[in-house]
Parts: sequence; structure tokens; C-alpha cells
Amino acid sequence: MTRGTLLRVASAFVAAASLPGVARAERYAVTMSPAAWLRRLGPARYAILREGGTEAPYSSPLEKEFAVGRYLCAGCNRPAFSSATKYHAGEGWPSFWDVLPGAVRYKKDYQLIGEVRTEVHCSRCGGHLGHRFHDGPQPTGLRYCIDGLALRFIPERGDGRGRSSARE
Ligand SMILES: [Zn+2]
Repeated sequence: MTRGTLLRVASAFVAAASLPGVARAERYAVTMSPAAWLRRLGPARYAILREGGTEAPYSSPLEKEFAVGRYLCAGCNRPAFSSATKYHAGEGWPSFWDVLPGAVRYKKDYQLIGEVRTEVHCSRCGGHLGHRFHDGPQPTGLRYCIDGLALRFIPERGDGRGRSSARE
């Protein structure tokens, strides 16, 4: 181990020890130090996935993405949402009325005074994906309001068009 590596490891350890929310990451199958997450994700995705940030509305190209495919957690690549449940909510973020089975966990979010929101986290890496509300369309009545930066879209191969207006 070089001195530079040792210093990076030491500083990552200090950073982890000083952040109150980091200990909870140990419950997840995929865990990394904050420094390693930052290297993997880059600053924009890191702010959303690891610090609970929210991207600016209408900033994600995925808000208007309606091709057939899957949306993976950008932190660990676990499939989280399907295009079959994506819809246009008009709120400025990619929106879904359901989530893939076992893909997420929920946590109460008290950031807004007077309003308790439900945070949506990846079940494998704990990455913060967005929020869940109860004003979505049927059949669930749910609205998963998800940051595009927390997702990677993988179009389904095979139809040769990349986009599909077919109803499922
Ligand atoms: Zn993940």
C-alpha cells in the first residue's frame, strides 16, 4: 500500500465516521465508503443517491423517456422500475405507479416542516431514489416521483425501434 492510498483510506474512514447517516448503509448488500461512492457516481449522482438530494424539476431527459425498458438503480444497477408502469405525471420528474418487487425500501422523511414524506431507497445499496406519494393513477394510486440521476435506463432490445407506443 502506497502512502497516497493509505491517506485516501484514512480520509474516507474519517469522513464515514463523521457522517451520522452512514452507519445505516451497513444493512445493505452493496456498501462502499463515501469516497468510493463519489468516485463511482460522480458529484451529481452522489448528491441524489448518497446525500438525499433532489434534482431540479424537468432537468432529467428520463422525465420524457417512454421507450420500453427497465430503469436500474444508478448506484448498484439493481432493476427498480419498468417502463410498463411509467406515466407522465407532469411534475418534472420521472414518475411510476409501481415498483419492481423487492426493489426498494421506505423511510420517513421529515425535511419539510409540517409534512412527512415517504422516501424511496434502493433495497440493495440504500441509494436514495426519490419519494412515494398517494396521488398516482390506478391500479395502485401511487406516484413514485424519482430522480432521473438516480436511474439508468436500459431500453429493451428486439423491437428494432427503440421507442414503442404499444400499450401493454
Ligand atoms: Zn442500488
